[in-house]
Amino acid sequence: MHSAQHQHSDIMPWQLGDAAIAQVRSWLDVAAQLKPDASAQQLAGVLKDPDGLDFTVGFVDRVVRPEDTAAAAEALADIADDVPAFLPWYLQTAVRAGGKLAKFAPGIVVPAAQAALRSMVGHLIIDSRDPQLGKAIKKLRTEGVNLNINLLGEAILGQQEADHRIAATLALIERNDVDYVSIKVSATVAPHNHWAHDEAVDDIVEKLRPVYRAAMRADPVTFINLDMEEYKDLDLTLDVYRRLISEPEFQNYASGIVLQAYLPDAYQAMVELQEFAAQRVAGGGAPIKVRVVKGANLPMEKVQAAMRHWPQTVWPTKQDTDTNYKRILNFALTPDHLANVRIGVAGQNLFDIALAYLLMQHRGIDVDGAVDFEMLLGMATAQAEAVRTDVGRLLLYTPVVHPDEFDVAISYLVRRLEEGASHENFMSAVFELDDADFFAREADRFQASLTQLKHDSEVIPQPRRTQNRQTEDFSNASPSVFANAADSDPDLIANRSWGRQIIDRMRHSTLGNEQVQKCTITTEAQLETAIRSATQAGTVWRQLPLSTRSQVLIRIGDHLGQVRGDLIEVMGSETGKTIDQSDPEVSEGIDFARYYGEQCLQLDQVPGATPHPVGLTVATPPWNFPMAIPTGSVTAALAAGSPVIFKPAPQAQRTAAVIVEAMWAALDEFDLPRDVVTFVIAEESTIGSSLVTDPRVERVILTGGYETAQLFKNLRADMPLLGETSGKNAVIITPSADLDLAVADVVNSSFSHAGQKCSAASLVILVGQTARSQRFHRQLLDAVSSLVVDHPDNPQAQMGPVIHEPGEKLARGLTELEEGQRWHLKPRELDSSGRLYSPGIRSGIKPGSRYHMTEYFGPILGVMSADTLQDAIDWVNAIPYGLTSGIHSLDPEEISTWSEQITAGNLYINRGITGAIVRRQPFGGWKQSSIGPGAKAGGPNYLLGLTNWSDNPTTLPAISDQQAEDLTDAAAQYIPNEDLVWLSKAVASDAVVVEPFLANVIFRICRLKSICCAIVLQP
Ligand SMILES: Cc1cc2nc3c(=O)[nH]c(=O)nc-3n(C[C@H](O)[C@H](O)[C@H](O)COP(=O)(O)OP(=O)(O)OC[C@H]3O[C@@H](n4cnc5c(N)ncnc54)[C@H](O)[C@@H]3O)c2cc1C
Repeated sequence: MHSAQHQHSDIMPWQLGDAAIAQVRSWLDVAAQLKPDASAQQLAGVLKDPDGLDFTVGFVDRVVRPEDTAAAAEALADIADDVPAFLPWYLQTAVRAGGKLAKFAPGIVVPAAQAALRSMVGHLIIDSRDPQLGKAIKKLRTEGVNLNINLLGEAILGQQEADHRIAATLALIERNDVDYVSIKVSATVAPHNHWAHDEAVDDIVEKLRPVYRAAMRADPVTFINLDMEEYKDLDLTLDVYRRLISEPEFQNYASGIVLQAYLPDAYQAMVELQEFAAQRVAGGGAPIKVRVVKGANLPMEKVQAAMRHWPQTVWPTKQDTDTNYKRILNFALTPDHLANVRIGVAGQNLFDIALAYLLMQHRGIDVDGAVDFEMLLGMATAQAEAVRTDVGRLLLYTPVVHPDEFDVAISYLVRRLEEGASHENFMSAVFELDDADFFAREADRFQASLTQLKHDSEVIPQPRRTQNRQTEDFSNASPSVFANAADSDPDLIANRSWGRQIIDRMRHSTLGNEQVQKCTITTEAQLETAIRSATQAGTVWRQLPLSTRSQVLIRIGDHLGQVRGDLIEVMGSETGKTIDQSDPEVSEGIDFARYYGEQCLQLDQVPGATPHPVGLTVATPPWNFPMAIPTGSVTAALAAGSPVIFKPAPQAQRTAAVIVEAMWAALDEFDLPRDVVTFVIAEESTIGSSLVTDPRVERVILTGGYETAQLFKNLRADMPLLGETSGKNAVIITPSADLDLAVADVVNSSFSHAGQKCSAASLVILVGQTARSQRFHRQLLDAVSSLVVDHPDNPQAQMGPVIHEPGEKLARGLTELEEGQRWHLKPRELDSSGRLYSPGIRSGIKPGSRYHMTEYFGPILGVMSADTLQDAIDWVNAIPYGLTSGIHSLDPEEISTWSEQITAGNLYINRGITGAIVRRQPFGGWKQSSIGPGAKAGGPNYLLGLTNWSDNPTTLPAISDQQAEDLTDAAAQYIPNEDLVWLSKAVASDAVVVEPFLANVIFRICRLKSICCAIVLQP
C-alpha cells in the first residue's frame, strides 16, 4: 500500500462508531413496529436453516430450471424427502406429496411446484410483462421510494440475445413510469476476446449510445446506471463509461456507474472518477454518480482466481472489505467531491448506512441532494422502511424478468442466498438483530473496520493482481516445488499493451527461421551425425545426478517463460493461433518442464526397481499444440534421462526452433552439450522414417493421427511407441442440464483453435427434450454465429484459420452432408487464404454414419438426438476413439451412470472438454486415442514408460505377509537360494500393493521362472 494523498474532512468515520450503532438501534426499533413481511420472513427461514441454501438452490436448479417436466419431476422426487424445516408445514407436506406424485402426474405437479417457488421469491423479482410490471411499479413506488429497474435475462452468448436485451431495456426506458434503469456492459455485446479491450470498448459504446440517447430524451428522463460484475469487466466498464459520457451530446446527461469495495482497486478508481468528473463539471458538464457497493461476485472471483492460477482479486477478509467501503465513502462524502460525483450508498448493512447518514449530517451534506440510499427490493423490507422514514428517500434495486425466463433469475437469487448464508455477512443476521448476541457481533465487526480504517488512514490500497509480462524476470531459478504457471491476464492494462505488441508483430514474424535453416538435414549421413551426437550427449546427461537433471528442467521452464511473448508471436504467425489460445499453451509447456523436473527426483525412489535411461528418444509432436506438446514430450524424455531428437511437425518448425533455443539456453547455463536436445528438420517420408526406425531409438513419442501411429508401427513392428492419437469427442446434454452453461461450453470446446484439437467437441448429443429445446438451438446458433473468425493478427479473433487449405477429408466435412443431415450453419470460406472458414453446425447425424465415426480436424459440430441417456452413452462408446468426453447434467444419478460407462480417457462434467492442466488434470486417451503404456501426459506416472527398468526387489524392506510366505515356502525347494530372496521380497511387496488380487502375485511368479509357475499352482 502506498501513502495516501487524499484530503480529510474534519469529522472522521471512526469518530462516529457509537453514534452509528445507536442509529441502527433506533432504526431497528422502528422496524419492529412495522408489520413483518411474510415473504421476507420466509427468506429469513431459508437463511437460518442449515440446509436452506442447498435445498433452495437444488430446487431452483433442478425443478424450476428444466424445460422438461419429466426431468423436473424426477428431481422433485429426488429432493422431496430432504425438505427443510424453514418451509411452513403445509408447504413441507406439499413438497413431500409432490415428490411422491411427481412421476405419475408430472404435468400437474411440476408446474405447481414451480409456481410455489415463484410465489416464494416473487417479492424479490418482478414480472416484466405488462400489466404486471405497471401494477408492481405503482405499488412499490410510494412516498420517498424510487425504483432502479434491472432487466434480468438469459446468459448473453451471442449478439442476437444482446440486441434483444438492449431492445427490452429501451422499451423500459420508454415507459413513463420508469426513470431509472441499470444495465451491464456484458449484456450489450456477444462475449468478446479480452485481449481486444479497445475494440470491445468501441463496440459497447456503439451499442450503448442509442440507449443513452433514448434515455436522455425520454419523458421522464431516465437515469442509466452501468452495473459492475466481475473483476474482468472492471476496466472495461470504466473505460466504456468514461468514453461514452465524454461524447459531447452526453455532457449534460446525468448517469452512473458502480464500484465494488471488495476490490482494493475500487478506491483508486473512485479517485480517478473524481478527477474525471471534476474536469467534466468544470467544463460545464453534469456530475456523474457512483453507486458504492461491497460486491456480489465473491464466489466467482474465487473460482476464476483458482482456475487461472491468479491472485485473488478481492480483499483477503470481510473486515478489509468493510474497511475499504468506509474508506471510499469517507473520500466521497464531502461537499466538494459530491459536487462532481454523486453517491449511491448501496447495501443492506444498516451500520454502514447509518455511518454514511451521520457523516453527511456532520459534514453539512444535504440529505435531499447528492446522495441516494439504495437497497435491494424485498430484502429486509421493514428495515428499509425504517431507513427511508429517517433519511427521507430510498432507491430500491428492482430486478424484473419475463416469466418464461424465470430460471435466469436464478443466478440473482443464488447470489442473494449465498451471501445471506455466509455468517460473515450482515444478511445472515438481518432478521435476528433483536437478539443481543447477533447485534453485538455485527456492531463489533463494524467497530473493528472503523478501527482498521483509522489505523490505515494514510494508505491507498493497491490491486492484488499485479502480473506484468513486460517486466517479468526469469534470471533466478523458480522454486523446485511445482506450481502451475499462471496464464497472462488480459484484463490488466500492462499485459494488454504487451499482448498488443505481440499481435502487431505476428504478421511479419520471422522468428525461428534461422534455426530451422541451420538444423535442416537432407541426407542419411547428416541423420547419422545427428543420432551419434545425440546419443553421445546422452552419456553425459544420463550420468548427471537426478537433482541436476531436475534443476536443468526447471530452468528450461524459466527460459520458456522468458520467451512467452516470442512463442505467442510465432505460434500466431505460423499456426494461426489466437493469443487467448496460445498463451495458456505456453503456460502448459512451462508446467511440463517444471513438473517433470520435479517428478524425475522420484525415479530412484521406486521400491524394488531400478531405472535405466534409454539411449535415445525421438519426439515427433503435432502442429496443433505447437508449444505444449513438443515441450512436454522433450522434457519428459529428458527427465527420464534420455537425450532427445526433436523433429517438429513441418507446419510448426519455427515455433519448435524458439522452444529449442530456450532449452539450449538452460543447457548452456549448466555447461551441458546442446545435443542433449538435437533439433532436426527433416522430410518426413524419407529422413523422418529413417529416424524413427533406427534401432538406436528406444522410445518414440508421437502425438498425431491414429493413421500416423499405424504407419510408424508398419515401419518398425517393435517400435517402442508412446502415442497420443486421434479423438472424436462428444458432449452429452440431458434435460436436467443448465443450458446456458452447456451452450457456452460446447461452443468453446468445438471451435477454439478452429476445432483443431484432438480433444475438441465434434459431436453434441441432445437427450430427450433437450433435442426439442428451442432455447438451446437458438442460443447455440447465436453463440456460434457471433464468433469473430479471423487471422490471429486481429485481436478480436475468437476463432482463427485452419492450418492449411483443407485436405480431402476436412473439405468433405466442411461441405458434404450425408442423408438426413442438414446445415444449421453452413461453413463459408471467408477470404482468399483458403484457410479461413466460418464455423459449421450440422444436425441429423445418424448413429454409425460417417460423421459419427470420423475425426474432422476443423470447425464443425454435429448434433445428434437421443431418446435416452443410455442411447447417448452407447453412441459415444461406439466411436473407436476415446480421448475426451463430456456431460452436462445437474442430476447426480445421470452423472454417475455416465461416468461409470463412458469409455474415454478424460471426462468432463458440466464444463468444456478441452484443456489439460499439468498435474491437476493430466491428459491421455483410451481405445484408438492412445498407443503404448497409456500413462497420461502431465500425470504422476508419465515418466515411468520413458525409461527402462530392472527388477530389484532385494532393495525392498522386509514385509511380513502370510500368503506371500506360504507361496515362497512352496517354491523354496525348487529354486536356488539367491532367487528365493528375490522371490520372497517380490511376492511380499506385491502382496502389499495388490493384497486382494492374489492372481497378480501368481502372475508375478509366473513371469519369474516357469518352473516356479508350475510349482505354485500345484494344489
Ligand atoms: C442497491 C444495491 C445495488 C447493488 N448493485 C451491485 C452491483 O452493481 N454490483 C455488485 O457487485 N453488487 C451490487 N450489489 C450487492 C452488493 O455488492 C453486496 O453484495 C450486498 O449489498 C451485500 O453487502 P452489504 O454491505 O449489504 O453486506 P455485508 O454483509 O456487510 O457485506 C457483504 C460483503 O462482504 C464481502 N465479503 C464477505 N466475506 C468476505 C471475505 N472473506 N473477504 C472479502 N470480502 C468478503 C461480500 O462479498 C459482500 O460484498 C448491490 C446491492 C444493493 C443493495
